[in-house]
Amino acid sequence: MDDCLFCKIVRKEISAKEVFRDELVVAFHDINPVAPVHILVIPTKHATHLSEFSAQRNGSATSGLLDACAAVGKKFAPQGYRIVANEGVDGGQTVPHLHFHVLGGRHMTWPPG
Ligand code: 5GP
Ligand code: ZN
Repeated sequence: MDDCLFCKIVRKEISAKEVFRDELVVAFHDINPVAPVHILVIPTKHATHLSEFSAQRNGSATSGLLDACAAVGKKFAPQGYRIVANEGVDGGQTVPHLHFHVLGGRHMTWPPG
C-alpha cells in the first residue's frame, strides 16, 4: 500500500516514536494522545480491518498482535490499560490500516462515546 500512512511508518518513510518492532508488529506513540499512555500497535503487513486481517492471516498472527498490545500495556501502563480497535465508519476508524490503541496512565471511563 504505497500511500497508506501507517505502511509509511512501517517503512520508516514517516517518523514515529517507536517503542517496539518485530516482523509482525510496530508499536509507536499516537501523535494526538487521548491519555497519558496512548500507543498504537499495527501489523507490518497491510490490512484495513481486523476482520480482513484475521481472514487473511493465521490465528497466530492475530494473537501475536494482541500479545504485543499486552506487552506494551504491561510495560507502559502497569496499573492497567485499555485496548481499542475502531473498525469502519460506525467504529470511528480514521486511518485505514488496522491498529490497536493501547490506552493507560489514567482511569478509563465506561461506556466509551
Ligand atoms: P482511529 O481513529 O483510526 O481509530 O485512530 C487513528 C489514530 O492514528 C488517531 O489516534 C491519530 O491520532 C493517530 N495518527 C494519525 N496520524 C498519525 C501519524 O502520522 N503519526 C502517529 N504517530 N499517529 C497518527
Ligand atoms: Zn497500510
